[in-house]
Parts: sequence; structure tokens; C-alpha cells
Amino acid sequence: MANEMQTRNFIGGEFRDAANGAVDEVLNPATGEVIAEVASSGTADAAAAVDAAAAAFDSWRKTTPRERFEMITKLADAIEADLPELKRLESLNVGKPVSIIDFEFDLTVDNFRFFAAAARFQEGRAAGEYLDDHTSFVRRDPIGVVAGIAPWNYPLNMATWKIGPAIAAGNTMVLKPSELTPLTALRLAELSADILPPGVLNVVCGRGATAGSALVDHPRVDMISLTGGVATGKHIAQAASASLKRLHLELGGKAPVVVFDDADIGLLVDTLKDMSFYNSGQDCTAPCRVLAGPRVYDDVVSGMTDAVAALRTGDPFDPETAVGPIVSEAHQNRVADMIARAGQAGAEITTGGGKLDRPGFFVEPSVIANPAQDSEIVQRELFGPAVSVQRFSDEDQAIAWANDCDYGLASSVWTTDVGRAMRMSRDLHFGTVWVNDHIPIVSEMPHGGYKQSGYGKDMSIYALEHYTELKHVMLRHG
Ligand code: NAD
Repeated sequence: MANEMQTRNFIGGEFRDAANGAVDEVLNPATGEVIAEVASSGTADAAAAVDAAAAAFDSWRKTTPRERFEMITKLADAIEADLPELKRLESLNVGKPVSIIDFEFDLTVDNFRFFAAAARFQEGRAAGEYLDDHTSFVRRDPIGVVAGIAPWNYPLNMATWKIGPAIAAGNTMVLKPSELTPLTALRLAELSADILPPGVLNVVCGRGATAGSALVDHPRVDMISLTGGVATGKHIAQAASASLKRLHLELGGKAPVVVFDDADIGLLVDTLKDMSFYNSGQDCTAPCRVLAGPRVYDDVVSGMTDAVAALRTGDPFDPETAVGPIVSEAHQNRVADMIARAGQAGAEITTGGGKLDRPGFFVEPSVIANPAQDSEIVQRELFGPAVSVQRFSDEDQAIAWANDCDYGLASSVWTTDVGRAMRMSRDLHFGTVWVNDHIPIVSEMPHGGYKQSGYGKDMSIYALEHYTELKHVMLRHG
């Protein structure tokens, strides 16, 4: 396939400009330069894509699991063959260092393969005669047209988490990528054109308030699957309540990292220096809120400060770069301002703390020691390259502080005491608890939030189930 950048919507198997010809500028965050002008869609474009998805639904839902398996596996193969170009586009558009980019793309390919196979293994309770002379069984039916609304931090991977289970279950999809990062979704659309029937996957680009809300409000959209901020999730939940559309909401996070005095601090620092700053900290599960035991607190702060000060920040295409830019100037300002406010509120910024003096939207990797539990930096999602460290007194306080937060997406506990690890995995109110690690994910296991981090799971068989309706069929035969 030619490496020409696709910039138009993909509707019913064809690329088209926005109906009114509008475009959004797409930037390279490492330089601030415009790299593309992409269709900025409105109500007419969203409606055309929903029509295409609705028209494709009836025959797609009747395909056999084997047929869907074969097509989705082919799509995974096509993505794998195109990885160099997909990775190049993502590094260019999000500022992802080439040194860290392989993981999410390997996961993207594996997610499609997982859901292709999972479509053949849907489960239900045993059919049987639960009433005299009646046989009952359950079906898992697709829901219909799913609007997938994706964020900018892992543009293709987050889109995959929606497309994979939705189409494997027999739904059709209209995907709206973030207006900041639409390029890999359009490349995926191009790859799908010869593999999926027209209308099964449509991509409509544009802003949340226009293209996004046109999809949310459209009466023929049966389900909305959003990965984004908590405020966006609440807004969409409210809008969707008018017609009670099904919702899948993967929202923000503020992951605690609970480090007990018996933990391996070398392993912790080595893990966090990479994982807290992976993708410039723009990760909903990023280990950003360290709670350290009274005896190891000083070692954690000094170990993290030294390791983070040594991280190389800069050009994403330099293989030595560990940390790239922030996605946009607006977000760069938000992140830098919030770190500065943490300092003003009394925390100590032991390394970093400011913007980098160079073109592009860079913020220095930062460590913030001893913030108050009720401070903004502990309570609100930063989504940037900084980690805070607090000192707790005992296990009860560690649990209370870890859970004292509106978010509930991910957490980790660091200890060599197996009993404590078990107690903590019971008591932490988060959708994921890692023990002596933080960040690894696999296609077979669910990912999703508690509390205001949303509901519905991504990846795993649970995601496939979330994109289906459960139907009871009862047959009288006596
Ligand atoms: P965002 O909420 O600003 O945007 C997400 C998507 O929603 C974009 O496509 C945007 O255009 C769209 N949108 C915005 N307003 C809308 C509206 N009114 N109607 C319809 N669509 C609308 O989020 P973002 O800044 O792109 O991404 C960062 C956020 O995503 C962070 O909060 C992060 O934690 C979260 N996130 C969560 C997960 C997870 O798995 N839970 C994964 C990645 C990112």
C-alpha cells in the first residue's frame, strides 16, 4: 500500500470529504507544525456513516463466527504487514518515542486476533427444561450500530479495543477518532477496505462537540463506546439517556502505587522510571500516585528523583529518547500549570517541574514529594510526565488514601508479604491490581474501571459480552 496519508472520512467503503468541506489541522506535537488537514465532520457526515453501518448490519449479523474470524484475522495480518507505516504515523502525530512504540502495536494485532477467535467461543448456561414441557436457551445477539469514540493517547490501540469486540460480536461500527490524532484510524480504514464488507467499519473524523455529539444523538446508534475523560463520559451518559442507548465508558484514572517497607525498592524505581513516564505519562493507568511506607519513603523519593532526572526527553524519532512531547499546546499548559500549583500548595518538586525550552509541547519529567492527600495533584488526573510520592503510616492509612479518590481504574501494591498482597487486592477499589508490577496488560484479561473511571470492560471475553444482548428463547413442546 502506498504511504500517502489518508485525510477523508471512510463511509460505506469509500473515502469522502466532509459534506461542508471543513477540515481540522493535525499537528506534530514534537515541533508544533501542521502535518495534515483532516475532514471535520458534522451532522450530515455522521448521519451518512450511521446509515452505512445500519445498512450493513443485517447481513453482517448473519455471518457465521467462522466467517468473521476469517475476515478479522485477515485484518490483523494486514495491520501486521503495515506496522512500519502505522508506527511512523503514530510517532509523528502523538510524539511517541520509537523506543517505546512496539508494545501497543503488538497488542493491537493481538487484540484483533483474540477477538476473531473469541467470536467462536461465546458462552451461555445450559439449555434445558426449566419449566415442564418448555425448553429454554440463551442467545448472545449483536446490539446493532455501535458508535466508537476514541481518545488521542493510544489512537489506534484504543480504537482497536472497540472495533475488535464490536465487529467480532456481529455489530457494525462508526468510529470517531480524536480530532488531534485521526491518522492511524484512517490508515486502518484503508487496510480494511478490501477485507470487510462496506459499512461494517466506518470512520468519521472531527471534533467531539460536532461529529461526536451527532453520533451520540443519532436515533439509529444503538450503543456508544467512549474512551475519554470523566467529564466527556458524564456528558455522553446524559445525552444518551434520552434514548437509553447502551453505554461503554472507559474514563480517567489516578492509579495509586502502594509501596510497603518490605518491598524491593530497586525493582520499584526501575519499573516506575519507565512506566510512570511511558507515553509522557498520558496513560489512564499510569502509576502516578506513590504511597510509600514510613521506612522506605526517603529511599523512594531519592531513587525516583535520580532515575527521573536521567530520563532523556526529546525527538521521538531518536532511538535514545525515552520521553516525548505532550500531545497539544493546551494540554502542555494544563500539565505544567498543575505541577506548578502542586509546588505552590506546599509539595516539593525534587526534579523537573517546567516546560522544556524548545519547539514542540514538552514538559520535563517531574517528581513531586509530600503533597497533601486532599491536594489537586493527588486527587485529579494529570495525564502528564509526573509522579507524586506520599508517606503513609500503616496499612489502614495506605488503603484509605489509595481508595480516597473519585477514580477506580488501576492500582498496584509492592510487598514481599503474600498475605498482605492478597488483603490489598481485596481492599483496593480499582479495576486492576498489580502486585510488584504496574502496566502490563494482555488480550485475555479485562481492563476497566470502578467508580468514576466508568463501566464496561475492554479486552477479554467480558468485552465481547458487553457488545452483545442476552436473549432468552423459550419453546413450548408439550
Ligand atoms: P476527551 O474526553 O477529551 O475526548 C475523548 C473523545 O471524546 C474524543 O474523540 C473527543 O472528540 C470525544 N468527545 C469530546 N466531547 C464529546 C462530546 N460532547 N460528545 C461526543 N464525543 C465527544 O479525552 P482525551 O483528552 O481525548 O483523552 C484523554 C482521556 O481519556 C483521559 O482522561 C484518559 O484517562 C482517558 N483514557 C481512558 C482510558 C481507559 O481505558 N479508561 C484509556 C485511554 C484514555
